[in-house]
Amino acid sequence: VPVRDKKPEWLKVTIPTGQVFGEVRKIVKEHRLHTVCEEAMCPNIGECWSRGTATFMLMGHICTRACRFCAVDTGNPMGKLDLGEPAQVADSVRLMGLKYVVLTSVDRDDLPDGGAYHFAKTVTAIKKVNPETRVEALTPDFGGNAACVDLVLESGVDTYAQNLETVRRLTHPVRDIRASYDRTLSVLAHAKRARPDVITKTSIMLGLGETREELREAMADCRAAGVDVLTFGQYLRPTMHHLPVERYVSPAEFGDIREEAMGLGFLEVVSGPLVRSSYKAEQIVMDKPGS
Ligand code: SF4
Ligand code: SF4
Repeated sequence: VPVRDKKPEWLKVTIPTGQVFGEVRKIVKEHRLHTVCEEAMCPNIGECWSRGTATFMLMGHICTRACRFCAVDTGNPMGKLDLGEPAQVADSVRLMGLKYVVLTSVDRDDLPDGGAYHFAKTVTAIKKVNPETRVEALTPDFGGNAACVDLVLESGVDTYAQNLETVRRLTHPVRDIRASYDRTLSVLAHAKRARPDVITKTSIMLGLGETREELREAMADCRAAGVDVLTFGQYLRPTMHHLPVERYVSPAEFGDIREEAMGLGFLEVVSGPLVRSSYKAEQIVMDKPGS
């Protein structure tokens, strides 16, 4: 086994069990929903679910894109969409008693609007049934279509997120060829300009071969695009068919990176080996001045 495939101690976690966890899992299953928490086998699931945060994956299992870090299947869903999904999600949020919901989705380049309307309808449905619940939309790039971004922005979301995933140089090979570093930044910049009251957020994975200098440039680009919240986590290879981990970044270095980013003026930076884009998301938004 190459050294880089041996996980360091700080990445080892225990699988959660317990009654609350089991109940929540049952609700998700009964509503035929998919959570990223379960499907990505996210190490934070016990902590997040008990705090009332979960991430739902909308619009099915099949993504039209094929990013080399991501375990989601690639294919063509042929325009199929479960129109009952927004109501199912809204109902689950109520039953699960969630205070903070992250909605994300596969990329749906097969739909004329990339799924923006479906995204927006889901936010509206959640807010109608759960007026107190905060909602974060972690969207596809919608091919950079500002009208699609606006649909989601006007749906009542509290946070708008689009992930940069990595530094400029590594965008390809890491992300699908249709994704672009500048497009993600322009989507985020547009969101901030159009709705300054909505928090903007992006996530970067570490351990893919990026240098500190490249990371510095990415942080500065995010700040210039008006990004409010930045998260950094360790890239973990989902299968042997995915990009290898170049390096395991130590908790201390994650700490240094956070300090550096905070110095640039972000509202919040969450940085650590097990941090995922939705980790501790609710604290940032709930603590926001005026919220
Ligand atoms: Fe789910 Fe995100 Fe928490 Fe992981 S970090 S358990 S994906 S809400
Ligand atoms: Fe995975 Fe998103 Fe890339 Fe699709 S677009 S392969 S869901 S990271």
